[in-house]
This record gives sequence, structure tokens and C-alpha cells, in this order.
Amino acid sequence: MPGHIKPAQLASRRRPWLAMSLAISLALTLRAADGDRFAPRLLPGLTVTIHTLFLDEEKVWVHEYFGSLPGYTFVSLHDDENTSAEAAREFIAAEGGRLVELRHGRGRNVIIRHDGHRHPFDPNRMFTPTGLTRSLAYFQGFSSATLLTAGNFARQVEQIIGIDTAGTIIAVHNNTNDRLTIRDYRKGQIYGANTRAVHVAPDRDPDNYFFTNDEALFRALAAAHYNAALMESEPSRDLGTLAFLTHQRGRRYVLVEAQHEAADQQREMLRSLVGLLAETAPQAEATR
Ligand SMILES: [Zn+2]
Repeated sequence: MPGHIKPAQLASRRRPWLAMSLAISLALTLRAADGDRFAPRLLPGLTVTIHTLFLDEEKVWVHEYFGSLPGYTFVSLHDDENTSAEAAREFIAAEGGRLVELRHGRGRNVIIRHDGHRHPFDPNRMFTPTGLTRSLAYFQGFSSATLLTAGNFARQVEQIIGIDTAGTIIAVHNNTNDRLTIRDYRKGQIYGANTRAVHVAPDRDPDNYFFTNDEALFRALAAAHYNAALMESEPSRDLGTLAFLTHQRGRRYVLVEAQHEAADQQREMLRSLVGLLAETAPQAEATR
């Protein structure tokens, strides 16, 4: 069951100290509760809903943060990519929007745990049966049972994200210096098969880049001298990524990849991105 916490509801104009002490005691209660290491990080202006999901004996908490204003949906799938999640949290606290963040303390991959066995899979490969099968097999954990458990988990995460209703989805990630760069999206490289166009900005760190399925946004990002890659309109490789799923559903998707600890760049990229998203918005979203 999700626990819905709304410090904003406790606010009192007459006695702000009361609201503050209530908010603090609420935060302490949360810390003492089940997922204490994974207590959400509330900032002023944020509320959170906690969804507890199970993979057999393993628990994953999905924190769904809400800013006080409407806005875009941000998604953080890899639990060890904290700079990007923090930048998104700060952004929605200030500007509005929603952040869906997976927490479990296992690092990048989610695991299925039962009878002392652990079967990892990559949560950014879980959104299609093909991608999920490949990811489970990569870690020697594929079976019809693990596929079912992980597939159910993927659908629950997908529902919380709300692919079909959320509008533009912004995935936030962190990478390690030079291990994944904009150059990997060129034809012949690891992500080249699903990429239609790449813009490499010579004066930018190649670790910091955008990947989107929206051509107008891609052009705007390139014109603003960012590293950017554009998804093929019919991507041939089903990797089971959130990008693949959102594209399949006809939604606008953007991935923001920045180096670990590069908090300033990440903040700057999010701000520019949201400005450009508004300028290039599909009509249905123009009123956001
Ligand atoms: Zn990631």
C-alpha cells in the first residue's frame, strides 16, 4: 500500500512552527519505519507517495514525488545514480512536476530474491518481454518464473510512471567518465542501431548528453550546442528500455545523461531542457 504524506496539508499560516515540527516528526517516523535507509528526501515544496513493490522476498520502494505545481514526469530507474535524482528532485521542488524514483540499495540492478537465490536484472531493460528475457539471461537468471516476477514488477512501475497519461517522460541517469558517451550513439556503436541522428558538440563533455524520440526537440538541443541523439522512428532493436516503451506508446521521451557528481551540469541541462520542451511541445502539452 502506498503511504501518502503531504506535509503541505499540515501547513498553518498562524503557527508555521507547528507545521514545521509536525513535518519533522513525520520525517522521523518515516525514518524509523520499514524502509528506513530508503526514507524519501523531502525538500520544501515536495510531497511523496511511497509504493512498496515485491520481487518474491525482495522489496523495492518506488518514491513518487510531487512538486506543488504541475509539470513534467521525471524518472530515475538506477538506484546508484543519485546526482541525477537529486537534481530532478530539486527541479520539481522549485518548478513543479513529478519524480518517480526506484530505491532498494542494490545498486544499478534490481534483484529477485527467493530461497537464498538472487537474480538481478536491469530496470531499464525490463519494459518489454524481449529486453527483460535478455537482461535476466545476461545474469544467468532466466526462467519462466523469474520472467513472470520481473514482468509484473515492470508493469507496476510502468503504471506508477503513467506512460499513457503523463505526457513527456524525462529519464535521468548518471554515467562514469568516458564509459558511456554521445559517441556510443553513432552508427556501428552500441546504441547506433536505434539512433537516426547524432549531434556532437565539440566544446561539451561527451559524457553529458540528451537522447530523445522527438525530432523538433533534437534540433533545438543541437542548435543550443548540446550533445544530442535522435531515436530512429522505427527502432529495430528492442532493448526493453523506457525509451523503447514510451516510443512504442507514441509518447515523447528524453533521456538526460550526465556524469556522476556533475550536479551543476545536470541542473543546467534540466533547466535548458524544460525551456526547450515548452518551445517544442506537441499541441496536447502546450498548455502545461
Ligand atoms: Zn542509468
